[in-house]
Amino acid sequence: MSEDAGIVILGAGQAGGEVASELRKLGYTGRVTMIGDEPHVPYRRPPLSKAYFAGTVSAEELYVVPAASLEKAGIEFIGGVRATGIDREHKRVSLDDGRTIPYHKLVLATGGRARPLPLEGADRPNVFLLRTIDDIERIRERATLGARMVIIGGGFIGLETAAVAQKLGLRVTVLEGLPRVLARVTIPEVSAFFERVHRDAGVDLRTGAQVAALEGDELITHVHLTDGSRIEADLVVVGIGLIANTELAEAAGLAVDNGILVDEYTCTSDPDIVAAGDCTNHPSEYLGRRIRLESVPNAMEQGKVAANTLLGNKVPYRSVPWFWSDQYDLKLQMVGLSAGFDEFVVRGDLENPATRSFAVFYFRDGHLLSVDAVNKPQEFMLSKKLVAESARLNPAVLADESVPFKTLIAEAKA
Ligand SMILES: Cc1cc2nc3c(=O)[nH]c(=O)nc-3n(C[C@H](O)[C@H](O)[C@H](O)COP(=O)(O)OP(=O)(O)OC[C@H]3O[C@@H](n4cnc5c(N)ncnc54)[C@H](O)[C@@H]3O)c2cc1C
Repeated sequence: MSEDAGIVILGAGQAGGEVASELRKLGYTGRVTMIGDEPHVPYRRPPLSKAYFAGTVSAEELYVVPAASLEKAGIEFIGGVRATGIDREHKRVSLDDGRTIPYHKLVLATGGRARPLPLEGADRPNVFLLRTIDDIERIRERATLGARMVIIGGGFIGLETAAVAQKLGLRVTVLEGLPRVLARVTIPEVSAFFERVHRDAGVDLRTGAQVAALEGDELITHVHLTDGSRIEADLVVVGIGLIANTELAEAAGLAVDNGILVDEYTCTSDPDIVAAGDCTNHPSEYLGRRIRLESVPNAMEQGKVAANTLLGNKVPYRSVPWFWSDQYDLKLQMVGLSAGFDEFVVRGDLENPATRSFAVFYFRDGHLLSVDAVNKPQEFMLSKKLVAESARLNPAVLADESVPFKTLIAEAKA
């Protein structure tokens, strides 16, 4: 296929939007077509379980590349249409509206979809997944004052939704199957802090809670647990993880293993196809192994790298993973992954929920591995560089809150 066919981007999410904008920023003047199965132009998902659910930002404020900007940049957006196949031999993509779109280079930015609850009744109209603007719109219709919301899953999305729902005046129950919330991302002490915060706010938070069944005819009215409890529900929100959208890549014969396999330049096993965002499994220099991440910083960084690769610039992806979560007045910011730490030190008071500010520094062999910071923006910002450098710090001095963090790390490194 000739160069005239230009670059086709499958998936109009954060990563797809970033590739498109970056291509223009880098001076690419050829044809760019972005195809998304949602009707919306690329938008930010993080506010969906935060400010957008709370009603403090509008849908337009979520858009990362508004329609007018796309038009101005000459990016063709085909929304509400699903790509159903990739013909790598003839370099064209088929769409579910019958069209076939040729490409010179293809970008897979297909992200992921919310994992459905594998139980009968999960398809009832008051059981919701939470991934899209449209999901939140539907949740909002039922999230009325005093309504009983049962949230299945005590990860970031479940807990953020609980915090907003509680503030909106719903009666909220959170059911976490594991013995503690946020178990995949942090230590028991931090999980316990968040559990206390939610319970103090009035959330009925249950850990080790295994959902056995959903009860109800047209609508679900109760959630049953394996311990025999039966919880009343006006609406159920399911936040139990993500399934990467890799089927298209797999069907096209690309290498896929818990995500589309890419190298540090976002190249897939086909030289004419790159991939970016939640759908990829990429090598991480920081971890020394491959990983599939679900985060905006990853989608944006990989998007930038992909655009560079498409234009022949060799810019490797070398970012340290970082995440954030807003719950009530708490901003949790995490840099690096703490799995594999052999020592940690807490700066601030983790036991006292009234203080609501602390940072946990994780070490391996004396090197800073990762940091979880709650309402400690300075610690987080400075730690991003320290984690990237795998800095050697004296853990003992970090705990001293009477010394400003900036001074402390300078002294500790000296
Ligand atoms: C409620 C919520 C809160 C979050 N909060 C945070 C946060 O606080 N911090 C953070 O870093 N991250 C957060 N995330 C995660 C973050 O939003 C994702 O990591 C990010 O959106 C990934 O971007 P992406 O472009 O890779 O994928 P996506 O955003 O999933 O975009 C992919 C798009 O491609 C479309 N698509 C898939 N297949 C096809 C096809 N065949 N044809 C056409 N289109 C297709 C999908 O429908 C989707 O629109 C949150 C996510 C959710 C849902």
